[in-house]
Amino acid sequence: MMNEYSRAACEQLDLEDSLSEFRDEFAIPEGMIYLDGNSLGVRPKAALARAVEVVEEEWGVGLIKSWNQADWFSLPQRLGNKLAKLIGADDDEVVVTDSTGLNLYKVLAAALTQRTERKVIVMNGSNFPTDNYMAQGLLAQLGDGYEIRFAEHDDMEAAITEDVAAVCLTHVHYKTGRIFDMAAITAKTHEVGALSIWDLCHSAGALDVDLNGCNVDFAVGCTYKYLNGGPGSPGFIFTAKCHQGKALQPLTGWWGHADPFAFERDYRPAPGINQMLSGTQPILSLAVAEVGLDIFLRADVAAVRAKSKKLTELFIRLMTQRCSQYGFTLVSPEDAECRGSQVSFSHTHGYPVMQALISRDVVGDFRAPDNVRFGFTPLYTSYVDVWDAVDRLVDIMEKELWRDSEFNQRGAVT
Ligand SMILES: *Cc1c(COP(=O)(O)O)cnc(C)c1O
Repeated sequence: MMNEYSRAACEQLDLEDSLSEFRDEFAIPEGMIYLDGNSLGVRPKAALARAVEVVEEEWGVGLIKSWNQADWFSLPQRLGNKLAKLIGADDDEVVVTDSTGLNLYKVLAAALTQRTERKVIVMNGSNFPTDNYMAQGLLAQLGDGYEIRFAEHDDMEAAITEDVAAVCLTHVHYKTGRIFDMAAITAKTHEVGALSIWDLCHSAGALDVDLNGCNVDFAVGCTYKYLNGGPGSPGFIFTAKCHQGKALQPLTGWWGHADPFAFERDYRPAPGINQMLSGTQPILSLAVAEVGLDIFLRADVAAVRAKSKKLTELFIRLMTQRCSQYGFTLVSPEDAECRGSQVSFSHTHGYPVMQALISRDVVGDFRAPDNVRFGFTPLYTSYVDVWDAVDRLVDIMEKELWRDSEFNQRGAVT
């Protein structure tokens, strides 16, 4: 690789990019460089027509008949089977349903039913907090001596000992982008007789995940980040075939019943992945989320990962080449193999710097206490975008534009 990049070199990389044709499938606002697809993915153009179709035709005209005629009832499984192909799962191992947090509660509870003699759950203390909050809520209900053992990256394997029931980690760290070695940690988890649960929120659609190749027991994740499902679109649950029908989740609503339309008095679990469902789903949201998944099914996951590594590498190099005198410290791993599809830097004035950048149409985000975070979505981020983003940042730093008071006021969502 060259030492010094230029805009022309980035243009050349775009010309050689096998994924460049996908950019046109997304509605990116004119002039905007969107580096926040790791938080809320942009809208696939076709999502609009699909939303209109569902509202006008399926809901407006078909009404209740659409549960059958428009296949509303099977959306969780249909989308699940599509998503399965992106994360190394088989048919009938994934359903798209509910939120990531609720799904985590369900699979954690299900896993604990398989290891009742053990009371320790290993988690990552610096994880996106909802995962830990959900586990704390579950354990408060279970009472009875359960505890969470928090560990960080470097002491993770040492924390996985013979008293552990489940190891519940997020594959790619939401702030640093650091990847946990799924194969090695899952192997260690099984070696001590525990079960593995992985949160794929920052992996699905960005990395080549291989759940069955790693013998993972359970996984959850969301569809509104890299998978472009739309704001608040449902999350997903993976349960390995060997646990289906045995490891049961406790939110036993009628959609997880063996025969929902028999309306029996008592719950009987569905034998397969359907037991992970609880109740009626947001059909509008599911229908729109399918549009994003269909785009991914046409993309080569290995090519997505390869481009993701090149985009983050380019960004780090350009920041080093052009921004090193302005006080940014790389928080993400330097080695692309250990890094997901996002890059974070810490900066004393991270908040106003990000606000100034957003005002110049480069959208990333800020994560307390001082991280500026940039997500790189291979299907619609170009190499020239990366160049232009750094170019605008250089201008902001050079002229100290971030000092303006308008960039120092905080909104509710950062
Ligand atoms: C984004 C994210 C979530 C989101 O959870 P919701 O239930 O959808 O609010 C959960 N966990 C991790 C690790 C995330 O990155």
